[in-house]
Amino acid sequence: MKVFLDPIKCSGYGACADICPSLFAIDEFGFAQLLSDGVVAASDEDSARNAAVSCAENAIKIEG
Ligand code: SF4
Repeated sequence: MKVFLDPIKCSGYGACADICPSLFAIDEFGFAQLLSDGVVAASDEDSARNAAVSCAENAIKIEG
């Protein structure tokens, strides 16, 4: 599984970082950033999916 973040769509609500802090963080400007190359460990797959569903801006996509 791989996760993609569209920084143009992100409005910085922070839900992704709350739900899946191993993959997402909020940067110094208040917007989400990916903490890795997007490859999701098996143990993080559920929280990555939850983060994508919870993003109000539909900025997170998941493949695989
Ligand atoms: S949940 Fe979506 S809008 Fe909110 S910080 Fe994360 S990527 Fe941005």
